[in-house]
Amino acid sequence: MGGITTSLTSETSIPGLYAVGENASTGVHGANRLASNSLLECLVYGAQLQHIPLPSWTELPEISPSMPIQEISLKPVDNSTDPCESLREAMAQLVWQTAGISRQAVGLQQAITTLHQYQQAFDNLPLTQVLTQLCPGQCYQLPNLLSPKDLRSWGELRNLLTVAHLLLKSALFRTESRGGHYREDYPATDPAWQVHTLIQESQCWQSEPLSGSSTKADPTASS
Ligand SMILES: Cc1cc2nc3c(=O)[nH]c(=O)nc-3n(C[C@H](O)[C@H](O)[C@H](O)COP(=O)(O)OP(=O)(O)OC[C@H]3O[C@@H](n4cnc5c(N)ncnc54)[C@H](O)[C@@H]3O)c2cc1C
Repeated sequence: MGGITTSLTSETSIPGLYAVGENASTGVHGANRLASNSLLECLVYGAQLQHIPLPSWTELPEISPSMPIQEISLKPVDNSTDPCESLREAMAQLVWQTAGISRQAVGLQQAITTLHQYQQAFDNLPLTQVLTQLCPGQCYQLPNLLSPKDLRSWGELRNLLTVAHLLLKSALFRTESRGGHYREDYPATDPAWQVHTLIQESQCWQSEPLSGSSTKADPTASS
């Protein structure tokens, strides 16, 4: 089952960032998670986390320069209509229809193209253009029309678009059916795919912890 790759002590590749539970991929599950192992995983790894010596703040790499808060002037945001809501609904429908229980390459490829258009629409939102220009330490006076709920919905959509992209790309990459992953165009289980798949940005690759071999490929070129 998928998630953010972690070590057995819940560390991710980002120093100081730990992942536990549904969002973590520790390697304890195969392609099909057995019933009730998910909650057990949360309990075991959650309990373990309290005993892991965490680095102190001074040991962590500096994330941003400590700048004094300053006002910056950017173009005002008109948030009288909420385009995030409709984009979110369309994206959820797209991913459920093309990467739900049963998938196939053509549908996944079309979904990647459509998702790219949704991403562009999101990037072009006035709110996105303002918020993504802000640097650490900068302060922007949000318009009164923009509620905390709108801001949260914007942030969630931004993350969901990334997750949808990773999900579609990795579903396209795995050209076999195994466990909870069913491909209509590859209905059989393929021993060559008895590996984990990893994805970072546009790069997918297979990882075989037992043999240590790995191959890199572009998912859009492979299917
Ligand atoms: C229908 C269903 C049935 C299941 N049945 C079983 C079962 O029988 N046995 C079993 O072991 N497992 C089962 N599971 C899996 C199990 O429920 C999950 O693996 C487990 O709940 C994951 O826990 P978690 O704390 O990692 O994530 P979650 O339970 O998803 O908790 C994440 C929390 O973060 C909150 N959150 C999200 N975004 C934000 C944000 N931006 N700011 C603040 N908070 C936020 C959410 O509201 C949520 O409360 C089932 C799952 C589903 C969906």
